[in-house]
Amino acid sequence: MFEWTIIGGGIQGSTLATYLIKRNGTSISNLAIIDPHREPLFTWKKCTKTVEMPFLRSPSIHHLDVDPFSLEKYAKAKGGKMSAHFYGPYDRPSLSIFNEHCDSLFEEIELKKSWIQGRVNKLQRVDKHWLVTLMGERQIKSKNVVLAMGLSDQPCWPGWASELKVQGANIHHIYDNNENQHISSEGEIVIIGGGISAIHTALKWSNLRPGKVKLLTRHPLRTHQFDSDPGWLGPKKMKSFEKVTCLEERRKIIANARFRGSIPQELKMKVISAGREGRLELLIDNVSKALYEKEEIVLELEKTSIRTDHVLLATGFHASPPGIEWLQPTIEKEQLHCANCGYPIVSEDSLQWGENLYVMGALAELVIGPVSRNISGARRGAERIVQSQMR
Ligand SMILES: Cc1cc2nc3c(=O)[nH]c(=O)nc-3n(C[C@H](O)[C@H](O)[C@H](O)COP(=O)(O)OP(=O)(O)OC[C@H]3O[C@@H](n4cnc5c(N)ncnc54)[C@H](O)[C@@H]3O)c2cc1C
Repeated sequence: MFEWTIIGGGIQGSTLATYLIKRNGTSISNLAIIDPHREPLFTWKKCTKTVEMPFLRSPSIHHLDVDPFSLEKYAKAKGGKMSAHFYGPYDRPSLSIFNEHCDSLFEEIELKKSWIQGRVNKLQRVDKHWLVTLMGERQIKSKNVVLAMGLSDQPCWPGWASELKVQGANIHHIYDNNENQHISSEGEIVIIGGGISAIHTALKWSNLRPGKVKLLTRHPLRTHQFDSDPGWLGPKKMKSFEKVTCLEERRKIIANARFRGSIPQELKMKVISAGREGRLELLIDNVSKALYEKEEIVLELEKTSIRTDHVLLATGFHASPPGIEWLQPTIEKEQLHCANCGYPIVSEDSLQWGENLYVMGALAELVIGPVSRNISGARRGAERIVQSQMR
């Protein structure tokens, strides 16, 4: 039997694993991390590589290690120019130094020893422990279980795009599995979305197919340095959030606090210059109707209409609680509480949903607030769970 089992080995689950090991919350042999992929952070690395994001949006103190300056120290020890590793006044790390730091951290704590490749589809309370069942029927017993499944397995498809896909249209979501393998034609490409993923994708394709790329966004480019006000990282905004007892109200606060579909200023400048150079066309409009005619996609917009060979969706992820389908029997049997939005109601101090059952990331949003899904949210969630074991 394991002491701790973490379901999901992304940013959230791997941060908690690091905190548990480094804070002596458990040993690597008493820890299991279950994830369908072959290694930690597989989904993070896949998504960020797909969009060719050179630098993270978050600052250098947001990483997976316990010491806030660990990433900076790692970069200094590595040598080379610091400007190659960090960008701008907030020292945003390059994706490569961030990922290297994660890999070196995982080697240090020997994380792979706790890695179990598989997908969980059942969770049952048996006597005083949890029984975790993986697809293929393998079972694992654990005293504590942490749900750290993120949203990245749930790419969001607009209704019109799903309908055209069924008819055979060449439409992909950038975060679908094996997405790039299907983009073979040399024709025009329309990228749908206005957030950071859409912008990175549009810039990438504007270099690959200059003059043949359109970026279709519903709103003018919105610029914000971060994806929410930095006040949410500390007591400035979190104090009043914690005083709100109505969870519907908390959900509204979270929705309003996120600068959805926003990008840092330097990306806006890159889009503008790609436009000026004729590599990329920016269209601010809305799809009102979509058709698939003679192997061409026709998008009827409010102001105009466009024809294209290929549509690439950068429309984010579904916001439904990850894992909610296979968790439903557990929710009913163990009488676990959920808010009207479907998300878990968990304890403020330890993120505990049921006896020895904890949540992280998206699932901890109603307590951790607007940054919960991010790296800073992972740090805060891990800190809470680990601290609660020391009381
Ligand atoms: C392009 C991009 C750039 C970003 N940049 C930043 C940034 O600069 N700074 C920042 O703070 N945040 C950033 N984010 C946001 C955030 O940090 C990530 O979305 C983060 O990866 C979420 O981590 P996670 O662990 O919750 O989810 P995931 O990465 O989705 O990992 C969860 C894992 O759980 C697995 N899983 C799901 N269901 C099961 C199951 N039933 N059984 C077992 N395993 C399961 C999944 O397969 C996955 O491997 C960015 C996101 C994207 C997409």
